[in-house]
Amino acid sequence: MSKIKNFLSDFDDYELAFFAKFKLNTYLKNSQENIEKILFKRGLTKYRIEQLIKNNPKSKLADGKERCPRCYSDKIRNDKVELTNTSSGFGLSDKIATYDGMIGKATYKDEIICNVCGFWLKDPNEEKPKSLKTNLFRGIMTIIIGFFRG
Ligand SMILES: [Zn+2]
Repeated sequence: MSKIKNFLSDFDDYELAFFAKFKLNTYLKNSQENIEKILFKRGLTKYRIEQLIKNNPKSKLADGKERCPRCYSDKIRNDKVELTNTSSGFGLSDKIATYDGMIGKATYKDEIICNVCGFWLKDPNEEKPKSLKTNLFRGIMTIIIGFFRG
């Protein structure tokens, strides 16, 4: 538990507000309760969270740092990932990646994720978790297909 506490102690109130709004529900219930305790200690009520998000002063910063377009934090994680999604792309760079893949040379692209709110800035392998709506639709389709197949 101290891990998440350490992680969050590095966040300012604005970052914590975005974290609470967009990432809190991705944690297990146990962790959520612990995070809520931290939010409470920092005085982040639901109302205050909304206010902080609305008035985020970082949205006006122009310091040249790479920032998350949603929460404007510069706490973003950049991982070099081996490009696996070479078959479905249409752009020229994707074609080159496919060619490189064919001759056994791995292509690396940047996978960039916001550490604060979980926003995916770049998702070269389309690993971003699909939205609940998509999952729900897929689930329903699987049931329907299963029904017709008997
Ligand atoms: Zn963000």
